[in-house]
Amino acid sequence: MRPTLFVLIAGPLLCSFHLVSASDSQAGSRFPSERSTYRDSVTGRDVIRLTTSPAEDVKIYQTHPSWTADGKWIVFNSDRTGTPQLFAVHEEQGGIVQLTDEPGVNVGQVCLSRREPALLTLIGNEVVRLDFGESLRSPAVEANPVPPRRTVVGRIPEGAALSGTMSWNASETALLAGFSHGGGEGGARTWSVESLDLERRLWTTVLRPGFQVGHVQANPERDDLIMYCHETGGDADQRMWLVHADGTGNRPFYQESFDEWVTHELWWGGERALFTAWPKDDAMRRKPHGIASVTLDGVVRFHSRFPYWHVTGAAGQPYVVGDTFAGEIIRVEPETGERTVLTQGHRPKPQGAHPHVSLDPSGTKVLFNSTAEGNADLYLVGVEADGGPTEHAFRAHRYRAPSTPEAAASWQRTVRAELAALLKVDSLMGRDRPLNPRILRSDVGRYVDQEVEIDSTPGRKIILRVTLPREVQPPVPAVVCIHGHGGTRNSVHDRGSIYKGFAAELADRGWVTVAVNVGQHEVYEADRTLMGERLWDLMRCVDYVSTLPQTDTHRIGCAGLSLGGEMAMWLGAMDPRIRATVSSGFLTTMDQMEQNHCMCWKLDGLRELVDYADIYSLIAPRALQCQNGLREGPTDFWVPIARGAMADIRRIYSVMGSDGQVELDEHSGAHEIDLPSLVSFLNAHLSQTPSGRPD
Ligand SMILES: [Zn+2]
Ligand SMILES: [Zn+2]
Repeated sequence: MRPTLFVLIAGPLLCSFHLVSASDSQAGSRFPSERSTYRDSVTGRDVIRLTTSPAEDVKIYQTHPSWTADGKWIVFNSDRTGTPQLFAVHEEQGGIVQLTDEPGVNVGQVCLSRREPALLTLIGNEVVRLDFGESLRSPAVEANPVPPRRTVVGRIPEGAALSGTMSWNASETALLAGFSHGGGEGGARTWSVESLDLERRLWTTVLRPGFQVGHVQANPERDDLIMYCHETGGDADQRMWLVHADGTGNRPFYQESFDEWVTHELWWGGERALFTAWPKDDAMRRKPHGIASVTLDGVVRFHSRFPYWHVTGAAGQPYVVGDTFAGEIIRVEPETGERTVLTQGHRPKPQGAHPHVSLDPSGTKVLFNSTAEGNADLYLVGVEADGGPTEHAFRAHRYRAPSTPEAAASWQRTVRAELAALLKVDSLMGRDRPLNPRILRSDVGRYVDQEVEIDSTPGRKIILRVTLPREVQPPVPAVVCIHGHGGTRNSVHDRGSIYKGFAAELADRGWVTVAVNVGQHEVYEADRTLMGERLWDLMRCVDYVSTLPQTDTHRIGCAGLSLGGEMAMWLGAMDPRIRATVSSGFLTTMDQMEQNHCMCWKLDGLRELVDYADIYSLIAPRALQCQNGLREGPTDFWVPIARGAMADIRRIYSVMGSDGQVELDEHSGAHEIDLPSLVSFLNAHLSQTPSGRPD
């Protein structure tokens, strides 16, 4: 139904809109509540329909606030009066108030104030501020209509047109926007990021990036940062960009690899942004995709691998929310990737509305567009955990940063015991088992190079490659050197390989080294596990070198690459005799290892307990260096993902007061040992006899 007054003002529409007076305008007028609730038949959650009119009711894009500063009203646009105009709906009571009633309102451009009952929009080529505090003082239909106070605060300059969205900066002193310039007959088009000083009403050019600017987004907490995108309508080579408000420091924000397709991005608080990466083909489905985030420092985390369309989050809130082409609204726990469908069925036809999910600032409810009833309407659903199917819980023992070193150590004891049971090495540990060593070969060169057979378990023998200094006095450090897939105990001595012969390098320095084969993919003994047998053989290496007079048992380390980096993680985590660990070419997340990798890492029940960051956290406060090559690809041991995992690991070191004991070496190589860094790290942590025993 259209209010009749619209027909009356249809005439004046032909006149300049500056002449539309408050008395002609419907702005401020009231519409009865359309609010109703139903239960989602699949998820069992209550869903609120805020609008149900036959008009197209469309929410503000997810990059911008949807709620008024007092949190009570949601601003949206609707063609219910015949032309697209702005409205506000009272979230709890459902009353609707019309905010604009004039031609030329660019309803896609709405910047709501986070401080006051006000918004900025574009009407014709004028930037208009609407102060609607009086208009929205009551949701009641019979309240007196008061039109918003309308102030022109700027004008799009001659020859320029808006490109993408406008955005109000954090202090609300400037409006940021993308412009396109020229592009008429034969004219070349150019683009710029612009800033409108709302006090002086002057535009300043921030940047001319040389490509089409879209989605300019002011940082919500600080005025000096602007995110914008390279808009192509499709897959840009590099979509997300970041620039200082003064035009300096322009750089890719999330740096894409050539085959990625980043589709949507928005600030997630002031220090990081959320985005979605679309799995456009089979190759991309095997790579990280779905909901991800990037910090200002370039730490990337992929939170949930699923074909999401848009994403939303609120600073400091526990969940983010994504939507899908199929019209599902999905809650995601960013740490674990746990997914919960909140409601579904909002896009029964492929040409239906874009849900454009928006989380409210309290993180408790999500607003979205739904075409469940045919035409677009605004819907709302609760985000908190109350019913609805939840996916299997992962990472129950995720390290959650207890406040004291004692609590952190107690967490370590619990997790170590549970992992030992999972690995089926608990029955072997904690007992003195004879080694019965037999020297098979002993060559003397710059150092002594031996093959030694020992008992790993009562029924199984293993062969170690051991190097010893020619002089025994005084005792020296010993390092367990671990190879990767396809290697043997000899690979770590090969200076021409990806291992850079790090075992030979340490042997040359007069240290004890020991290596054993861990590349098998069969389980040798009944009631064991593959990973458990590999780990146990490495622990037996530690047992053996500890018996040697050449070894200082307080200075034992381990190092390895790839599978060897993984085994170094396990050995450092499970064997507190290890004082320093170098884990090269392995730091990542289990989600990443689920795709494209040998699955020998996966142990029944492992994912339910931990992720790799938690296993590494068992090493704290003992020394840990992870090495990841900057030339590792996105499906491999990719540095941006390693940074995220390392951020998790640093928390326990910090609680234990030993931040200096852990480091991520981002080296310029690929999947290989960074030899200088390995040597200097082990040297720093093992060359001095420690004052006390390693814990
Ligand atoms: Zn969309
Ligand atoms: Zn394997």
